[in-house]
Amino acid sequence: MKLTLAIQKTGRLAEDSLELLRKSGFKFEITDRSLTFSINNFPLEIIFLRADDIPEIVADRVADIGICGQNTVEEKGYKVRELEALGFGKCSLCMAYPEKQKKVSLSGKRIATSYPRLLGKFLKKQKISADIVDLSGSVELSPKLNIADCICDLVSTGSTLKNNGLVKGETIFKSEAVFISNDQISTEKQALLDKLLFRIRAVLTARKYKYIIMNAPRKNLNEIQKCIPGLKKPTIASLFADTDYVSVASVVEEDFFWTTIERLKEVGASGIIILPIEKMIL
Ligand code: AMP
Repeated sequence: MKLTLAIQKTGRLAEDSLELLRKSGFKFEITDRSLTFSINNFPLEIIFLRADDIPEIVADRVADIGICGQNTVEEKGYKVRELEALGFGKCSLCMAYPEKQKKVSLSGKRIATSYPRLLGKFLKKQKISADIVDLSGSVELSPKLNIADCICDLVSTGSTLKNNGLVKGETIFKSEAVFISNDQISTEKQALLDKLLFRIRAVLTARKYKYIIMNAPRKNLNEIQKCIPGLKKPTIASLFADTDYVSVASVVEEDFFWTTIERLKEVGASGIIILPIEKMIL
């Protein structure tokens, strides 16, 4: 028995999805034209698909699990379980207006989007009556072509909006890549899925932390410890033939990394070494 995982073939999520599998220890080789491939060291088959098709394929049990954007899951509305946010493919579904027009009331406007369901929900919640112009692509061109007055589209860096003379407005949905599964997976497959998720989560957790080792004055250990609570407490080791200094090791959260280093220096830490963590199991 094998699990089948659907991932994007080309596009924004493709590279990161494969990298996550590699980092989680799954071994594979891909030939140029293959649409499916097997993982050599785990009962897992990968199928390459268009990102838009992945929620439906998982809901229909053609694949057991998939990696796709939350935006696609929400827009398509198929019944699937969202198991884990993966920290890549981050983007926002935003309103955007022609530069000259700036922000105006949306009431009665024509709004072009590839996300009619999400936009519809937003408009309903805001009690706004507007026309949704459903386009499958090139949404950003629609105001110039006078197909729409403004747009609702995914924004990542914002350069597409800028290049098309559009200004970002309200964010209506925030998205990133997620791991999804069919909601009626068999017990045997669930056991495999648990193993697979355990490996993936070890990589995702590790990405949030760095390992840090430093020399610290023994007299300042209390202050040092306050800067780096670590997972429990930092490890403290004696330095050979030096009673005034100790070696301290801990983990630091990536999000507070530089402020933590600055505070550590202020309380006398020196010789600070920072190492990436490959996998971490809490
Ligand atoms: P950007 O210029 O980086 O803001 O990207 C905007 C363009 O890329 C728009 O055409 C979006 O539809 C598309 N896009 C941005 N982020 C994503 C994403 N995470 N997934 C799919 N499409 C995206």
